[in-house]
Amino acid sequence: MIWDAFMTHQDREDQVDAQARSANDMMARLGIPATPSNYEIWYTYFAGTNRRLTDVLDRMLDNGVAFTPERTEEIRLQFFPKDQDRTTIAEITRTTHRIERTLARVLECVSDARKTQGEYGQSLERYSSQIQDQDATDEIATLVQSILEETLEVAGKTRSLEGRLDQSSTEIGELKRSLAEAQRETMTDALTGIGNRKYFDLRLRDAIHHAKKEGERLSILLADIDRFKAFNDTFGHTIGDEVLKIVARSLAECVKGRDTPARYGGEEFAVILPQTGLRDAVILAEQIRKGLASRKLKNRRTGEDFGGVTISIGVAQYAFGEGRETFVHRADQALYRAKSTGRNKVVDETGLNLAQVVRA
Ligand code: GH3
Ligand code: MG
Ligand code: MG
Repeated sequence: MIWDAFMTHQDREDQVDAQARSANDMMARLGIPATPSNYEIWYTYFAGTNRRLTDVLDRMLDNGVAFTPERTEEIRLQFFPKDQDRTTIAEITRTTHRIERTLARVLECVSDARKTQGEYGQSLERYSSQIQDQDATDEIATLVQSILEETLEVAGKTRSLEGRLDQSSTEIGELKRSLAEAQRETMTDALTGIGNRKYFDLRLRDAIHHAKKEGERLSILLADIDRFKAFNDTFGHTIGDEVLKIVARSLAECVKGRDTPARYGGEEFAVILPQTGLRDAVILAEQIRKGLASRKLKNRRTGEDFGGVTISIGVAQYAFGEGRETFVHRADQALYRAKSTGRNKVVDETGLNLAQVVRA
């Protein structure tokens, strides 16, 4: 090894070249695609600048573990995390692996138990054939004693296996809980605390499935804050974030337990309304819109007046047989119409506001 302090510029360049070549050769040999992020992993390995990474890869190489895209991705997430989401995904992957390891231990316990019982059965067979050969009572007594001792030993082993199984099942319970917690986190919007787009998509898929199966009605609302860019520009992004929280809270407060509010995108929100037809959905949308429009927003500490914010809402009812995207698209078109015809209003997929038409 050349000591860094005594390396010339040329030495260093040669070393970098050699490390880059080794990384390329290794990826080719292991059949790993030469993407920049894979290259980063193997270049770091040969540069030896991350001890833990080197150890992990060495162990995998020693054990002949295949570098599948999933494992490579996991290594990348673990050693070169890019953002919060990816860290959470890595957390889920690690938890899944812990569950796998715990299950492996359970299987080991079960196979230990089988082995012990097998050995015990063989002993019994041996003793029984010996008893058939004996006529002296003393020797039979000795054999019975041996059988008794082995029985006690097996009973003891079974108890300890039971203990180990109990412990493993407690561990699996804990791991399941932490996995569920991590999954919940990936579906929650960090700013507002309500579901995010991913959550909305999953719940809408379930809601459509349910509506089809039961022949029930299903509607959605898509809401978008009006002129929010101007609001941010005037009062700043931090105040804007507070407004997003207020809008999320007022959506959550207006809907019932079976309804699902979610943050659909930046300043867009959505609500899934199972067992609800277009007209009732419009009435609810109107309540939400009015409630928000009547609020005056103020900085409680400084008394600064932020005026008010309004939202526009598009409403659609599920048409049986259509796909999720078509359904959402119709609500989106209604929202677009609400925007283009003045904002601070509710428009349904027919292009009207049915609730107002009915009332008029
Ligand atoms: P429109 O009435 O047509 O919807 O006008 P708009 O200004 O609301 O729409 P536009 O799409 O032009 O701008 C959306 C703005 O929403 C831009 C961005 O500043 C703001 N926004 C999006 N996400 C966030 C966020 O997380 N926090 C804050 N404070 N603002 C956000
Ligand atoms: Mg928008
Ligand atoms: Mg907007």
